[in-house]
Amino acid sequence: MSVLSVNCGSSSIKLAVFETHGAECLFRIQLDLNGRTYDETMTEALNQLFVWSHQAQPIEAIGHRIVHGGEIFQKPTVINQEVIDGITSVSSLAPLHNPIGLLGIKRLQEAFPEQTHVAVFDTAFHQTLPERAYLYAIPQKLYRDYGVRRYGFHGLSHRFVSQEAEKRLSLPPSTSRIITAHLGNGCSACAVLAGKSIETTMGLSPSEGLVMGTRSGDVDPGLHSFLAEKLGLNLSEIQSLLNNESGLLGLSELSSDVRELEAASDRGHAQASLALEIFAYRLARQIAGLCVPLNGLDALVFAGGIGENSSRLRQQVAQWLSHLGLELDDTKNQNHGIHHNGIISTETKPAIMVIPTDEESLIARETAQKMSH
Ligand code: ADP
Repeated sequence: MSVLSVNCGSSSIKLAVFETHGAECLFRIQLDLNGRTYDETMTEALNQLFVWSHQAQPIEAIGHRIVHGGEIFQKPTVINQEVIDGITSVSSLAPLHNPIGLLGIKRLQEAFPEQTHVAVFDTAFHQTLPERAYLYAIPQKLYRDYGVRRYGFHGLSHRFVSQEAEKRLSLPPSTSRIITAHLGNGCSACAVLAGKSIETTMGLSPSEGLVMGTRSGDVDPGLHSFLAEKLGLNLSEIQSLLNNESGLLGLSELSSDVRELEAASDRGHAQASLALEIFAYRLARQIAGLCVPLNGLDALVFAGGIGENSSRLRQQVAQWLSHLGLELDDTKNQNHGIHHNGIISTETKPAIMVIPTDEESLIARETAQKMSH
């Protein structure tokens, strides 16, 4: 079956077509918004897709990545009006992300009115978190009445790379203990036990946890009232400060891009070096914390633009975690593990791996599975 995967992010639109029987990718494009409107970018993406699909085979089903499914959506779901209403109803939990996903559904339904559309949720993989991991220590009325809890994100990526790691290392599926670090523009890490997410670093929104490109990650909840009282900032200004002006950008006062920061650090830019050090340190601290529910570790996997490309970041993180037995092979790390099935550690256990994430392929696989039921 040929399935189109639609992955609408806040800065880019990714479309890919897979022949799902053989998991073969037939077509793939990524268009960055680069100042254009979302609609303009989608129009160009669809034009490119139509040029291709007129020459190649027709598309039979469409899978859409939707960031937030709340507690309503625990697995891939065929899209109808009720599902659209459900996605809309949890949009307040992901105000930057869900509306984009809904816009993607609307445009693709117009373009492919006859085909089945399936929603695949980023939060769904984390619906196996136990209560002790997903509840905040706040009045429980907020959870019961408003769904205030930890949801976790990047579920497609964590699932894809943990499955890959399990397969490549031939780990026994019923006991495998894997930590995945998805490090792109947004960053999160996840503890995966026997194929199930049991803890993750993001929470109610994709702001909790690790230091990210422009997001602060964890801060003292007291910071918000401090900023309001001292600086007179309102809620949306605080939100914007913590989401768009913080993280690597806020720390370095230079860039949110790890490539630029590494180059600046090599030229002796002290603030760039410090920003990278804090990024690695906070990540290492969280990874060590994720070992608690796993009660041990078989593999640590790096993914996402930073995780897949920055040997320096991986080296800094591994250094902090050497007491867990993690030990990099410097040459394999420099080569991102490409000649060694993704493995960048020495012969010691646990394994350290680099696995390029492929959310689009998982969207296609899950969509095809849903269609076959
Ligand atoms: P998204 O979350 O939008 O999908 P990506 O996974 O593509 O983002 O990650 C983007 C980030 O990856 C960039 O901001 C950059 O910091 C980092 N990155 C990309 N290439 C490299 C590289 N060669 N070395 C270090 N970092 C890189």
